[in-house]
Amino acid sequence: MNVYDSARMADVLAPVGYAPADRPEGADMVILNTCHIRDRAAEKVFSELGRLRLLKAEREAQSGRMILAVAGCVAQAEGEMLLARAPFVDIVLGPQTYHRLPEMVARAARAAGAVIDTDFPVEQKFDFLPAAASRQTPDGITAFLTVQEGCDKFCSFCVVPYTRGAEASRPAASVLAEARLMAAQGVREITLLGQNVNAYHGEGPDGRSWGLARLLEALAAIPGVARLRYTTSHPRDMDAALVAAHGSLPALMPFLHLPVQSGSDRMLRAMNRGHDAASYLDLVARLRAARRDIALSSDFIVGHPGETEADFDATLGLVRAVGFAQCFTFKYSPRPGTPAAVLAGQVPEPVKDERLQRLQALIREQQDSFNAGCVGLELPVLFTGRGRKPGQISGRSPYLQAVHVQGGAHLIGTERMVTIEASLTNSLNATLSRERACA
Ligand code: SAH
Ligand code: SF4
Repeated sequence: MNVYDSARMADVLAPVGYAPADRPEGADMVILNTCHIRDRAAEKVFSELGRLRLLKAEREAQSGRMILAVAGCVAQAEGEMLLARAPFVDIVLGPQTYHRLPEMVARAARAAGAVIDTDFPVEQKFDFLPAAASRQTPDGITAFLTVQEGCDKFCSFCVVPYTRGAEASRPAASVLAEARLMAAQGVREITLLGQNVNAYHGEGPDGRSWGLARLLEALAAIPGVARLRYTTSHPRDMDAALVAAHGSLPALMPFLHLPVQSGSDRMLRAMNRGHDAASYLDLVARLRAARRDIALSSDFIVGHPGETEADFDATLGLVRAVGFAQCFTFKYSPRPGTPAAVLAGQVPEPVKDERLQRLQALIREQQDSFNAGCVGLELPVLFTGRGRKPGQISGRSPYLQAVHVQGGAHLIGTERMVTIEASLTNSLNATLSRERACA
């Protein structure tokens, strides 16, 4: 979502004369768009700021000016504290106020002190942003589109409800207009974004509340939109219509990121997830019944306070029961202000490390076996750019694998059938099956 937000910031700053630069050296303004989800992400901001401080000083020594802004969730969560630690920062803005950036920049240019805006404004930023113009991916063929933001679920470990605020959905008409624009610019694959994307409940053009399934259906009807994905979903918000959409909408790719966090019911309760392991497995079964070849990925946290070896075993058990195509695994990171940070039973770092390694080994095995299982299959691939080797182009399979083939650059932006020949560590090699586009 920060990738998408950064592109929107570029759009909102274009009319006042700013264009994206390749590097911070020599830039008139640098915006760090930050993430607060885990401690390591937040700490990175300060090391980066240390580096930028030198560039800013260099520019000032040459009688220039470099405005330094910190945006995103670290800015939201740490606002004043951030300025105390990095007083050379000119602007601090939260994720809900970047539509006000031009005004903040004007104020920063005039004033000596820092400008801070970490409101949760009553106005919807999307109503004030220009139509999406900046590419969010270098290829220009795949793009992100935010449809929902924020979260009301308050999982024990998570900062999102505090940094991104209450759950809110964009009206469907605004999403559809942005998607049409993207399609006209050559985008073929759109990934809908939201912290709880499947909690989407935007106002439809018919005045009714639309769920994500209805929105996906309308998006699939836009000429040029060949592929749709959405992320990140909460198991509790996978309603029957959305499960069914995986069977009825060919544009909806058969790959779903569905974070479960743990396989232990005791931990899932402590995490306030509102679902148990059995209901997750039942959901997976219903998804597979709707779309036989659907591949799944997930997020796991090891070492949440109170996690025992038996709880961790239950997580390994769930991974074995599902069989994932890939996963993201994290060591529990205590976040200030969240309930889990002050729970008894914090798990020692070496125990977290050891569990993480065991979980990652199992997931690696599953990922390798999923990729190896693709060898010999014929799959549609959307080509997004040139490959690393001469004469090679690369693209994405329906399951989000990187696929390389020998082929002409004229195929970039088209979807073609390929035969998978080999599975490498993080990609697949393939040959073009026949010279015709997919249906
Ligand atoms: N809304 C999504 C997750 C968004 S946060 C969901 O409910 O599943 C992305 C991922 O970061 C989470 O799935 C979780 O695995 C991880 N995460 C969040 N807070 C964390 C913390 N304090 N420590 C470690 N991992 C965390
Ligand atoms: Fe965080 Fe996701 Fe839980 Fe919301 S549902 S609190 S975003 S982990």
